Amino acid sequence: MRIPRLLKRLRNNFQLSIITLMGMFGVIGISPYAVYRLATGNYLVGVADSVIVVSTVFAVLYAWRTGDTVKPGIYLASIFSAAATLIAINLGVNGLFWIYPLILFNFFMVSPRKALLATTLVLTALVGYSLLKQGSVFESDYQMISFLVTSMMASVLSFVFAYRTNSQRDELQQLAIHDSLTGARNRRAMNEELKIAASIKRRHGNHYGVLTMDLDHFKRVNDNHGHQAGDQVLVDFVELIKSASREEDRLFRFGGEEFLLLLPNTERAGLLAAALHLQQQIRQHLRGPSEAVTMSVGGAIMRHDEHWEDLLQRADQRLYRAKSAGRNCIVIDDGTDSTNLQPIA
Ligand code: GH3
Ligand code: MG
Ligand code: MG
Repeated sequence: MRIPRLLKRLRNNFQLSIITLMGMFGVIGISPYAVYRLATGNYLVGVADSVIVVSTVFAVLYAWRTGDTVKPGIYLASIFSAAATLIAINLGVNGLFWIYPLILFNFFMVSPRKALLATTLVLTALVGYSLLKQGSVFESDYQMISFLVTSMMASVLSFVFAYRTNSQRDELQQLAIHDSLTGARNRRAMNEELKIAASIKRRHGNHYGVLTMDLDHFKRVNDNHGHQAGDQVLVDFVELIKSASREEDRLFRFGGEEFLLLLPNTERAGLLAAALHLQQQIRQHLRGPSEAVTMSVGGAIMRHDEHWEDLLQRADQRLYRAKSAGRNCIVIDDGTDSTNLQPIA
């Protein structure tokens, strides 16, 4: 991988950059101790330090290779929490200063709840050990209480901050991929998911079908009853399609009154059956302000090694044919470029 691509990944993936940075700190900070301990014959601690260094490198490489930052995050938070606890037990008051950056580190690495749990375990271990061996960690009860109060304050404030940041990020993510009127996924999400589907097809051979749906003579609804009435029809349409399709099917609004349904694990017969079912639901239940609203449907099954844009284009061409054939009908690409008209009465 080239340097600019590496930097781009780091810029775009906050978790990955934090894991890399902390991994580097860990390796640079602990390696000299590992070498020193091994050189001076303290093999037990030397080997333990070496294991931490090697496994940190492994966790960072794992995150880079797989893109999974959750497992390495949990691993690093656990190993660094254990290490900081041991340091504090060994060094006493001087080691306690490490607990504060550890608290922040954990909140960067894992979910707020897990980070709070890790911090609680660390504090419990330190206090428990200190109570068992008086004077081993804290020099006085007053010092222990001061440490507990300040470290708990740091944890709670970090928890609130991390929790808020996470929920705002989730909200932003929702907004970025959903259409605000209907709640269907938007065009950006559609491109992304079609891309992913094409790569899964290439690697694992899974079957995918797509249906493009366009409301018939929708302009008339707007012209005769106003834009707001048209909006309501779009909202009702999405409700109906969502309730009439399977849990794993994904609905996208990719144009004004144009929608795409991505159907995983679907071959031609299934795609046709789904299209017929959806069209029947729309015909029976989609009521415009004065009359029933119908839709035209184009469909295609993803070919092996097909680019997602080509698939979209094929489905769109079939939709165009359905329109030319008089609307309120389905045209599915059968894979040999001939089409199958399914006019609906
Ligand atoms: P056809 O059967 O050929 O599809 O006819 P049509 O009138 O549906 O087709 P066309 O694509 O020409 O018009 C689509 C109309 O959809 C145009 C626009 O007024 C309307 N539209 C697009 N987005 C929205 C929206 O968000 N709300 C409302 N109310 N109308 C919309
Ligand atoms: Mg239309
Ligand atoms: Mg249209």
